[in-house]
Amino acid sequence: MSVAEIIVDVPTMQTNRPFEYLIPEALTDVVVPGMRVEVPFGRGKRKIQGFVMQVKAESDFQGKLKPISRVIDLKPVLSQEMLDLSAWLADRTYSFQISCLQTMLPSVMRAKYKQFVIPLVSDNPEVNSLLNGQPSFEITNQIDDETVKLINRLRKNKQVDIQYVVQNQALQVKRQAVTTDLNVIQLHEAKSQLRPNAKAQIKLLDFLADNLQSLPVEFNVLEKEYGISRAAIKTAEKNNLVKVIEVTKLRKPVGINPEQTTKLALTDEQQVAVDQISEAITAEKPETFLIEGVTGSGKTEVYLQTIEKALQQDKTALMLVPEISLTPQMVNRVVGRFGDQVAVLHSGLSNGERYDEWTRIENHDVKVVVGARSAVFAPLDKIGLIIIDEEHEASYKQDDNPRYHARDVAQWRAKVNKCPVVLGSATPSLESRARAEKGVYKLIRMKKRINNQTLPKVHIVDMRDAENSAVKGDFSPALTSALQETLDRHEQAIVLLNRRGYSSFMMCRECGFVLKCPNCDVSLTYHKDLGKMKCHYCGHEEPVPNICPNCHSKKIGFYGTGTQNIEQQLNDLFPQARVLRMDVDTTRRKGAHAKILQQFGQHKADILLGTQMIAKGLDFPDVTLVGVINADTTLSLADFRASERTFQLLTQVSGRAGRAEKTGHVIIQTFNPDHYAIKDAAKQDYETFFKQEMYLRHQSNYTPYYFTTLISVANQDEGKTLKQSYWLKKQLQTALSKNAILLGPSPTMISRKQNKYYYQIIVKYKHEPQLHQRLLEILNETQADVKSGFTIAIDNEPQHID
Ligand code: ADP
Ligand code: ZN
Ligand code: ZN
Repeated sequence: MSVAEIIVDVPTMQTNRPFEYLIPEALTDVVVPGMRVEVPFGRGKRKIQGFVMQVKAESDFQGKLKPISRVIDLKPVLSQEMLDLSAWLADRTYSFQISCLQTMLPSVMRAKYKQFVIPLVSDNPEVNSLLNGQPSFEITNQIDDETVKLINRLRKNKQVDIQYVVQNQALQVKRQAVTTDLNVIQLHEAKSQLRPNAKAQIKLLDFLADNLQSLPVEFNVLEKEYGISRAAIKTAEKNNLVKVIEVTKLRKPVGINPEQTTKLALTDEQQVAVDQISEAITAEKPETFLIEGVTGSGKTEVYLQTIEKALQQDKTALMLVPEISLTPQMVNRVVGRFGDQVAVLHSGLSNGERYDEWTRIENHDVKVVVGARSAVFAPLDKIGLIIIDEEHEASYKQDDNPRYHARDVAQWRAKVNKCPVVLGSATPSLESRARAEKGVYKLIRMKKRINNQTLPKVHIVDMRDAENSAVKGDFSPALTSALQETLDRHEQAIVLLNRRGYSSFMMCRECGFVLKCPNCDVSLTYHKDLGKMKCHYCGHEEPVPNICPNCHSKKIGFYGTGTQNIEQQLNDLFPQARVLRMDVDTTRRKGAHAKILQQFGQHKADILLGTQMIAKGLDFPDVTLVGVINADTTLSLADFRASERTFQLLTQVSGRAGRAEKTGHVIIQTFNPDHYAIKDAAKQDYETFFKQEMYLRHQSNYTPYYFTTLISVANQDEGKTLKQSYWLKKQLQTALSKNAILLGPSPTMISRKQNKYYYQIIVKYKHEPQLHQRLLEILNETQADVKSGFTIAIDNEPQHID
């Protein structure tokens, strides 16, 4: 009997390795790597899930092996590449291999679902006896091994397929369709016997005779496109002319239906980029390119033409974007160029839709995948190119276990697939730009905007000035008059507010009391829609106080400004202007982002007001003014990347102005007009910013001069948390050289979340060969503590330290 190596679904350190199980005789050939199975585990009768990693002829194990209880999937759900990736990922992110395997699956397979056998042929006796007259056969955990074996054989012979159906969700949208057993001659005969006034029947029979090859045809197609009614179909069915059957249809993701585009003639800079990348595609070199291109330099066309290069060589392409709903224009451009060959994976998809797209990829129906972070696990094979747009975005790093960075996974897959990776940004992360400096990445700079359009003129407004501090609202006289001029010219403006909510927190002007969450140690936020104060971390809510809970003064009020408030100010200042607001509140509904952007694109509004989400990737030719209300908010983050984040945000949003023939203007309001992040962003001068920031990182031993690992400990008892943190620190000290820097333990900025106290230790280091192993051991040694209520997390190269 052969043996399977299985990673079981028991997320502990002790079980974080493959276990061997016997493959029952009946399941030989059925069990293959990448499939999920159920196995007995431990002493009792407990059965758990596991992933088959490898199948081998015999075991080296001396004791008695238990057999696999049953197979869960009748076809592998992960490829060999993904299985290999899971081992690497688990090691790199200090997570369990089982968590990595689960992360790679489309979410439908992690949810509750059913599995069905769907026939692909109609005349096979084995298939028919399995179906027993039903349209599909449900695979339950009761089916015996013989049936499993039969299904497996039928699947391999392409006589049936397996479909997953999420429970409580109609995955396979069943549609009524028409077919017929009659041939062309019989149809014509039938037609001649109809009364001449039976117009609908004649139309239907004509249609069938002309389209015999493409039957069955769905009711709604007949209805919408040929004007043949349901009633007519039913009549024909009664007269035995047609048959009505049910067909399943794969749902298509909504809202994406862009116009077809063709290649543009490249500028010199674009041509250089396309040539270099194409060469690496052809030579199958797993190199990483960093395109540092100013906003509006035409990076997208470089992506599109290199993707085309990969497709011409019969390869596939994977393109990552920060968050699909925020970058609908990018998705439209890819779909506009490659049409049906593109699968789009985004968070707006339902489980079922996600599964459909995943199936299309797996079946090789698509050649290009566009998606956010987790799309990096898309089951593409023969990848010829991987693109990461806006590579500096923090959303490429997962905040939860496994804490992976999509860039690292992309580079791993590029090595296996022998293809280049292209990172693109106007404001590359310091890490990537530093690697390009050292020659690890190939730097491609695109310094010019398309058509030599000048970069926008940026004006920094010092809000500490007498003139500006005198104004009542949030709009300086300079921004107000610039907006007025823009409106007078019938052009458009974008206004960025670096915040969310109506106003961020409530403060007493008498005693300084700030209303905070009882669980989380953070300010509560006023939600106008709910009329309540709410915690953004744990969701706690309470009524709005009208007197100060501390000193009973009535002078408690809102502090800071939210988008709704700015919207009101805009309406007061410019009563004729049409304002669109885009923030978390107005974009909650599916497709809301795209709709707002579409309206703005069609010039149905004059001003687009929004939070960070409007800063990215928008390309509207009529926008000639960008106003930033509060440039400082990100500067005050307690994070060493605060300047980098501020520079990125301001550069990106400024880049939205003046992208077509008209010159753009940007007005940045700030209390820190002399800060280099703000001054360099105003000049769109990445290189100067990079040098200054590198100097400061060097001074204070931060990334990219040092690697960073963050270890956080949490427990409901603050004393216990601290004690455990100090113990951890001691453990680390023994493994580190004198050159490493160990900070903490210190409470996180929000020291208490969901009733747990958080402390963190930061390790900064250059070369510590022991560290990795020691951290793994620590995870092992703290298993019992985790069971008793501790949370211990290790984050390699954290994106936020808070
Ligand atoms: P980036 O992503 O670098 O900010 P885009 O890719 O959005 O810039 O390009 C800016 C604009 O220039 C877009 O409207 C795009 O259609 C246009 N464009 C890009 N390349 C060309 C080209 N070779 N010829 C003409 N227009 C181009
Ligand atoms: Zn008070
Ligand atoms: Zn809270």
